[in-house]
Amino acid sequence: MRIALVFSLLTALTQIGGVSYLAGRWLAHRGEITRRSTRLAVFLLLYASATIAASFTAPFFGRVPLSCFGDGSLQIQSPLYCALNRNFVTTEAKRAAEALSVAIDLEFPGTITLVLDANFPFLDGFPLLPHLSHDDGRKLDIAFYYRDEKGTPLNRAVRSPIGYFAFEEPAPGTQLPCAERDDLLTLRWNMGFLQGFFPAWMLDEARTGAALRWLALEGPEFGVERIFIEPHLAQRLGVVHPNVRFQGCRAARHDDHIHFQVTE
Ligand SMILES: [Zn+2]
Repeated sequence: MRIALVFSLLTALTQIGGVSYLAGRWLAHRGEITRRSTRLAVFLLLYASATIAASFTAPFFGRVPLSCFGDGSLQIQSPLYCALNRNFVTTEAKRAAEALSVAIDLEFPGTITLVLDANFPFLDGFPLLPHLSHDDGRKLDIAFYYRDEKGTPLNRAVRSPIGYFAFEEPAPGTQLPCAERDDLLTLRWNMGFLQGFFPAWMLDEARTGAALRWLALEGPEFGVERIFIEPHLAQRLGVVHPNVRFQGCRAARHDDHIHFQVTE
């Protein structure tokens, strides 16, 4: 039971972690390793090797890793995303994200655009929880840009440690499509208890609006076909475009990041 639980958890979180865990157990059994710390080390070694191997083999299956060591205008928000194998996209999605970051850097010199969850390295249809749609390499989440309490633009900084869950609350009188609903089965978590822990930085409307506008207007040239953000933010940022849509009330909130998808 415990083995099944750990296997499922590691698979859901990292895709290849579950298999590495089983392989580690098998090796420990063969080698008659009983010490917990050694067994853990065996697993970590196997997992690290599998993670490195994934970045070389995934391109044969149509996905490339976004580099965790890049120092250009496009960077991954946390090394955690790479450590968990959540940084894989199609070459087209990578090209679109890079072009977006170059455009924002041109308009706001020195700005680094941060990437959050992408996709796992292998298997179409294998979702990257809790994002059910991130299952084919074509989806990518981009962090918002922020200003500090005094209004100074911040660089490479997000309000929560992983870039998610620090929600921009809607201003009174804006569009609230989920206000009347109380779904039991939903990934629309409000994380109210967390909100007080995040710094009170403000959304950088200029840069976030520019990114949203670029994805809507220039993005299609790079294959961008659908963008998700909460309607109240699209309204606040002044971007109206048929590609900018609402993800629905049962999907995760999109007032802490921008989601986009490219064509196949
Ligand atoms: Zn997404």
